[in-house]
Amino acid sequence: MPDTPKILIVDDTPANLLVMESLLEGVGAQLLTATSGQQALSLMLEHEFSLVLLDVQMPDMDGFETATLLRGRKQTRHLPIIFVTAIGKDDGQIARGYEAGAVDYLFKPVNPHILRSKVEIFLELDRQRRLLARKSAELDHKVKELLALKKQLEAANRQLNELSLTDALTGLANRRCFQEALQTEWRRAMRCGQPLTLVMADIDFFKQFNDIYGHVAGDECLVKVAAVARSPLMRPADLAARYGGEEFVLLLPNTDLEGGVCQAEEIRLAVEKLAIVHEGSTIGPHLTMSFGVASVVPRRELDPMDLVCVADKALYTAKERGRNQVDVQGRGAFGSGA
Ligand code: GH3
Ligand code: MG
Ligand code: MG
Repeated sequence: MPDTPKILIVDDTPANLLVMESLLEGVGAQLLTATSGQQALSLMLEHEFSLVLLDVQMPDMDGFETATLLRGRKQTRHLPIIFVTAIGKDDGQIARGYEAGAVDYLFKPVNPHILRSKVEIFLELDRQRRLLARKSAELDHKVKELLALKKQLEAANRQLNELSLTDALTGLANRRCFQEALQTEWRRAMRCGQPLTLVMADIDFFKQFNDIYGHVAGDECLVKVAAVARSPLMRPADLAARYGGEEFVLLLPNTDLEGGVCQAEEIRLAVEKLAIVHEGSTIGPHLTMSFGVASVVPRRELDPMDLVCVADKALYTAKERGRNQVDVQGRGAFGSGA
């Protein structure tokens, strides 16, 4: 049985070994014997022992030397050693034994009851030690598993967060991300007294595009338009987002109306340059886009959605005036002070 503990009995007198073996019969351990320190050390290489009963007086290498060597080895450093000795209970010798690493002594002639009870105690201690080591290893394993799970969970959360803020088709920020940024930038602009500008952009005659070329081609078209929606003029704080369907928005902090118009115009030209054939357009051979721009220095009595409404109105004007153009908010769109 692999779990049965092993005891090594070392004595240079074979008769003593036989006596010890018979005294320990049925103690619940496998008994191995060695007749010299050398043999004991070599058995240590092959077996894992729970206890060593070590004779002190042996020729060549005595029990103390053997114990010192056992203590010096990593694998046997904590192995309990009981010295079995015929030396009288002389303090000097006993102290030497403890220095060499003994945990207990038995005196010859060995008292069978004392021998058994000591061996049983050490076997029990060893069983507890092994159990603790196993539990501790299991715990280490569980902690490692939990840490790995925690990492996975964090990565999944990050991914989920990104997904929940990104438009799956175009890879641009989605409407939710835009709404969050609008709130944040609105508050920041109000604190700093800076203008906040919004560009609303909408593809012209996109329904017809889908009707003529199909939904898949429509999607491909949206991806191409999204790629140019990030104008080269944009600054790191600027945000391009898909607002929904074929509508896009640009949120431009610390940018005035004129700056917004410039960026919108840049994108309008870039879309024209894509030269996506659109036979359903009544204003030209290629796909085009219309833009509405609004800008305001946020004030307490205004709401961030006012900026969206005003830009949307400007976009409506661009559509009305013939599409493929950039229009701006009307005068007084935000009341006095706008
Ligand atoms: P206008 O010039 O006035 O903007 O006309 P329009 O046809 O572009 O606008 P309308 O609002 O009538 O139609 C928008 C179309 O955009 C309807 C819908 O088929 C299409 N659309 C919206 N979202 C998607 C999408 O994710 N993929 C594709 N392929 N089409 C979309
Ligand atoms: Mg639309
Ligand atoms: Mg449209």
